[in-house]
This record gives sequence, C-alpha cells and structure tokens, in this order.
Amino acid sequence: MQIVKTAVELTHLLESFKHQKIGFVPTMGALHKGHISLIDASKSHSNITVCSIFINPTQFNQQADFDKYPITLAEDIQQLEQADCDILFLPSLAEVYPNGTTPIKSYPLGNLANILEGAFRPGHFQGVCQVVDCLLALVAPHFIFMGQKDYQQCKVVEQLLKMPHLNHQAKLISLPTFREKSMLAMSSRNRRLSADDLEKAGELYQSLLYVTNTLKPGNEKACLQKATHNLLQNGFHSVDYIALANANSLILIEQWDGLEPLVVLGAAFLNGVRLIDNLILPVHLKGLH
Ligand code: AMP
Repeated sequence: MQIVKTAVELTHLLESFKHQKIGFVPTMGALHKGHISLIDASKSHSNITVCSIFINPTQFNQQADFDKYPITLAEDIQQLEQADCDILFLPSLAEVYPNGTTPIKSYPLGNLANILEGAFRPGHFQGVCQVVDCLLALVAPHFIFMGQKDYQQCKVVEQLLKMPHLNHQAKLISLPTFREKSMLAMSSRNRRLSADDLEKAGELYQSLLYVTNTLKPGNEKACLQKATHNLLQNGFHSVDYIALANANSLILIEQWDGLEPLVVLGAAFLNGVRLIDNLILPVHLKGLH
C-alpha cells in the first residue's frame, strides 16, 4: 500500500492509473470491520482502491466530539495493508482546505439537511458535502463506497453527485451495516463506550427491530413511543429521535400506508456517546399484513 500525504503526490500517483477503475473509500479513521467491508467491496468493483483518513473538522457541530474523536493510525494502516488497499491518502487540514475551512459555497440539500441528523447537528451535512466534494475532486474515482449505517449521509452524497455544477462522475455504492455479535452497528465512536455500555448499546438495534416487527398502519406513534421508552429504560440517557422515513426520499412519515418503502432511524445518547442506527423495513412482507 502506498501512503500519500499531499494532493500533488496523490494526483501524480493516480496519473499512472489513468485507465483503471478507481474505487474510493473516505473515512475518518479508527477503522473497524465495517470500514474494511467497504474496502473489500471497492476491491471487487475496481482495479485501484483509494482509502482516505481525514477527521474533517467542518462536519463536527460540537468541538468536544471532534476533540474526543479516536485516532488509531498505526492499527488503521495495518488493517488497510491486510485488506490489500492500494493507496492510503492521509492529508493534513491544509491539503484538503488550502484556502481555509470557511466554506466558499453552500450545497443545495433542501429539507434533507434539516431533518433527523440535520436537525440535531446543524451544519453537519454542509461539512460532509464540503469534504466529500474536495476529496472527490482530488481522487476523481469511478465509485465511492459508503455505509448505510449513515443512511442520511448516503442520501446527501447521492444528491451531491447529482449537482450538475460540481461535475463529479463517481457512482455511489452504499453497503449494509456491519454489526457486532450483539447487533450493535460498528462505529468508531463505540471505542468510547465501556464494556458494560457496549452491551447496553445493542438496545438501539433492538428498539429499531421492535419497530420493524410491530409497525402497522395506524400504530406508528405508539410504536415509536414504545421504542423510545425501551431505550430510556435500558441505560440510554436521552433519545434525539426514533423516526420513520421513506427509504428512498427520506421524507419523514407520520402515517404509513403499509406500502411505502420505509426506513426506521434512531439516534440516542449512552453515557455521553451519541449512537445512530437504522433498519430498512422488509416492505414486501409488511404490505401483506
Ligand atoms: P467514518 O469513518 O465514520 O466517517 O465512516 C467512513 C465510512 O464507513 C462511511 O461511509 C460510513 O457510513 C462507513 N461505516 C461506518 N460504520 C460502518 C458499519 N458499521 N458498517 C458499514 N459501513 C460503515
């Protein structure tokens, strides 16, 4: 694996792979098997896989969350080597934002940026667009691989890729959430949980599963309330949301007709660590109720 730290080095290196299919996996490091599943997918779709590790300050709406973000570079490099990643891009802040971090453009995301994560993390998705836009311009990949664990982020990047003025050619490939045995979604932030809390954290998945198993047209509100109650009864201190949305448009749904494709999404705090997760409903079964 080649490790490059500057945009100039990266461009130079990628020139030698001009006619190859490039797959790109952007990350913030503290890698786990979920990240590696994206590398594996890229390896099977592309000739050259580029992974970036960059903790993007502009997508953190709380300085404390940025300050506490785990850094495990030596282990990350080892995992990427083992996964046979071709190039690791490890840029500094100045390489990604040579003109400073103040955004020079605003990305038209409409209501997608104001709901769910956007409502609780103001500015987060503008920051995500800013960094993905910069990285895509540098890597110019054919494919970008992202995790459905960050379901709304996938929708945001899907929209970013459609913005004609940006002229990105990459196709987004989103992949299923990789989970612990407890079914807790793997996340870099899980490293901040104690062993005891790691066990409790599985309740987020269980609560979302409860919704997918119980939801019927007419019981939406009761179902979401019960899921929230479960979390609060099982060690979570606060719940930002448990919500239903159209699985394609992500428009929030209060009354479900039993047919619309659905995703249930949740975000909650366990001992100061904010966890998110989601499940897509098996609608073909639900429609038969
Ligand atoms: P992050 O380093 O958290 O910014 O994540 C980098 C990429 O890995 C994003 O596309 C995430 O959605 C994806 N990712 C994070 N956790 C998982 C997981 N448990 N399973 C699959 N992909 C994941």
